[in-house]
Amino acid sequence: MATLELKNLHAEVAGDDEVEKILNGVDLEVNSGEIHALMGPNGSGKSTTAKVIAGHPAYDVTEGEVLIHLEEGDFGEDFEIPEDKRTWNLLDLEPNERAALGVFLGFQYPAEIEGVTMSNFLRTAVNAKFEGREELFEDEEGEEPERTESEDTGFDTSPMEGPADDGEIGVAEFQQLLSEKMEMLDMDEKFARRYLNAGFSGGEKKQNEVLQAALLEPSIAVLDEIDSGLDIDRLQDVSKGINALRDEQGTGILQITHYQRILDYVEPDHVHVMLDGQIAKSGDASLAEKLEDKGYDWVREDVYQTA
Ligand code: ADP
Ligand code: MG
Ligand code: MG
Repeated sequence: MATLELKNLHAEVAGDDEVEKILNGVDLEVNSGEIHALMGPNGSGKSTTAKVIAGHPAYDVTEGEVLIHLEEGDFGEDFEIPEDKRTWNLLDLEPNERAALGVFLGFQYPAEIEGVTMSNFLRTAVNAKFEGREELFEDEEGEEPERTESEDTGFDTSPMEGPADDGEIGVAEFQQLLSEKMEMLDMDEKFARRYLNAGFSGGEKKQNEVLQAALLEPSIAVLDEIDSGLDIDRLQDVSKGINALRDEQGTGILQITHYQRILDYVEPDHVHVMLDGQIAKSGDASLAEKLEDKGYDWVREDVYQTA
C-alpha cells in the first residue's frame, strides 16, 4: 500500500511581486485503494493543489511537503523497494520521476505530434515509467534493483512487472496489455488506433485520461475535474473506469470536483472541503450530500464560527 501525504503545503504564484498565497497549509493523506473527493467553491485552491503535486512551474511551494510513502510489493512482487527508498518528497523530483513512483497526475495531451497513434504514445509513457523507476532505484554502483519474492498485493490484477530485461515493452506485449485494460474499462478498441491529432472530443479526452491511468497502474491518481463538461453517458463511462482503477488495480483516487454529480457514480470513502487554500472540513460520503443540499456557505459559516 502506498500513501500520498500532503503536509502543511503552502504555495503561491511563482514570480508574483504582490505575493498572493493560494495554498495555506494543506494537510491530506490518500492511501492506495481509497477514493477521496476534494471539493470546494471556485477559486478555493483545488486545481492549484493538483498542479503543485504535479510540479507545475507556475507555483512556488513556500512551505510543506508532498510525500509518497511506499511499501514492498507496490511495484509488483519482484521489485524490491529498499528501506531507505520508501519515502520520497515529490517536490524534489521531476514530473516523470513522480510518475515512476506511482503517482498519476493527469493526462499529458501532446496534440502537436503528427502521425502518432494514441497506442504508441501510451506505450512510450509506460516505458518511461519503467525506465524512471529503474533509475530511481539503482544502487550506488549503478546496479538495477534486485528482484525478490514478496507478498501478494491483494488485488485481482497484480501490478505489471515490466520488461523482463533491460529492454522496452515491445509492441506485441503492449497490445496485449492495452487490450486487457480497454476491456477492464469497457472501452472501444478503435480508440487506441486513432491519431493523437485526430481531434478527440472533450469526453474522449477524459476517457483517454482514465486509460492512461489504467496502463500506468499508479498507486495514487490525482484527477482534476474529470467530470467537467461530460454528458450523462460519458460521465457514467468515465466513472466506471475510475471505479475499475480502484477495484481492480488498487489505485487510490484523489478526485477533485466542484460538483456532487460524479459522486453518485464514484462513491468516495472520504470527502474534503477546501476553503481559502486549506482543508476546512472532512467527512464521509454524507458530507458531499450535505454540500449538495446546503452549498458551501454553510461550511464557511461553520468553520469561521468555531475558529
Ligand atoms: P479551484 O480549482 O478551486 O477553482 P484554483 O486553484 O484554480 O481554484 O485557484 C485558486 C486561486 O488562485 C484563484 O483565486 C485563482 O485566481 C488563483 N490562481 C491560481 N493559479 C493562478 C496563476 N497561475 N496566476 C494567478 N492566480 C492564480
Ligand atoms: Mg499552516
Ligand atoms: Mg479548478
